[in-house]
Amino acid sequence: MTARLVLLGPPGAGKGTQAARLAEKLGVPAISTGDIFRANIKGGTELGKKVQAITASGALVPDELTNDLVRDRLAQADTADGFLLDGYPRNVAQVAALDEILGERAVDLAVEITADPDVVVGRLLKRAEIEGREDDTEDVIRHRLDVYAEQTAPISAVYAERGLLVQVDGIGDVDEVTERLLAAIGPATR
Ligand code: AMP
Repeated sequence: MTARLVLLGPPGAGKGTQAARLAEKLGVPAISTGDIFRANIKGGTELGKKVQAITASGALVPDELTNDLVRDRLAQADTADGFLLDGYPRNVAQVAALDEILGERAVDLAVEITADPDVVVGRLLKRAEIEGREDDTEDVIRHRLDVYAEQTAPISAVYAERGLLVQVDGIGDVDEVTERLLAAIGPATR
């Protein structure tokens, strides 16, 4: 099966959890720019040093850095049969960058996991207790949700205009949401 998928949705909608499950089911790598940044911060790399303060504040890392990172990642052999991008693209300029990176073999489908903002804040605060992510404090969570509304939410309309957007309700049991996502994605895999 091959599928070039983009997973959209607000912070706390369950993108990371669902991306891992879908990737396993579909046999494609889940690529999370947030995870890649966190791994670099943890490892003390040059990239990690550049992005630490930015990610801690809940702002977006500059497009140039992010696009280069995705370009390199998508050049790796394991993406030949498809991939699932989680957390990228994050603004309209990154959509254009991704188009350019992919060329003729464009994204097959953008899947948006929808969730009520109140539910999302509650989930993120709970995650803060469990994972201790630096950007899961209440102030930073609110900032990340604002950034999402201003910069990331408009992406859905871009993919919708291309006839490539499906929306899936992210509220409910984790397994149930996975099933909904697989049903929505099914037709796009080949
Ligand atoms: P995430 O794990 O997807 O919530 O990402 C955590 C943080 O990493 C974000 O708040 C941003 O600071 C940064 N980040 C992740 N993906 C991107 C992206 N595509 N563009 C810019 N910054 C990003």
